[in-house]
Amino acid sequence: MRKTADFLLDMLYPKKCPMCHEVLKDKKLLICERCAGRIRPISGALCMKCGKPVKMEEEYCPVCRNGNRYFSEGRSIFPYGELWRQSLVRFKYYGCREYGDFYAKAMSVYGRKYLERWKPQLLVPVPLHPSKKRMRGFNQSAYLAEKLSVFTGTPWDDSLVIKIRRTRSQKKLDAVQRRNNLRKAYRVSRKLSDVTVLVVDDVYTTGSTMEAMAMCLLEAGARDVYFLTVCAGRL
Ligand SMILES: [Zn+2]
Ligand SMILES: [Zn+2]
Repeated sequence: MRKTADFLLDMLYPKKCPMCHEVLKDKKLLICERCAGRIRPISGALCMKCGKPVKMEEEYCPVCRNGNRYFSEGRSIFPYGELWRQSLVRFKYYGCREYGDFYAKAMSVYGRKYLERWKPQLLVPVPLHPSKKRMRGFNQSAYLAEKLSVFTGTPWDDSLVIKIRRTRSQKKLDAVQRRNNLRKAYRVSRKLSDVTVLVVDDVYTTGSTMEAMAMCLLEAGARDVYFLTVCAGRL
């Protein structure tokens, strides 16, 4: 019975490779062999604060150099580009949730050295406003946090931070506008006692979302806030 159900599910919703979107012949794989050989995690000189690529002689990216950050540190696994944009769009809007299994696995493997250093005690996804979540059907960050929790053994909490204000789309706003747009957009639902939190999201761009998250988590009593995302976008 179980086998028949699995078989039908595979026929209807075959698992696909998150990068080339072709059907995976081996269901146990999270990515096809060809793509596994061609995608590369971010490497080279990275901003010591937010993990964005910087020039060899630089310690910090322009944004981190010019301002205080609420988060202690953060890293992203892959450089954002057209390939990743397409992959994440399918993950977020077109029902390819299994892509998230690969993303979270990559976060746990390539992010291991950071996770070992930061020692987060709680994984927290960036929340969506309830109306947006209803429309989209799921929160991509929560999916990633849940899977990362499975791979790392660190608990996750989907209800700790709540999005209380709908915010305009961030895409066309600059860093200052983004920050203002997000101010007071989140609320922490309970007091924290000295917990180290890791915020999980899909893409890190200007860091304004992470700043807003870190600000409210620290206000609620978090000791430190770190972040880990699948991709780092350009400014
Ligand atoms: Zn592929
Ligand atoms: Zn930086």
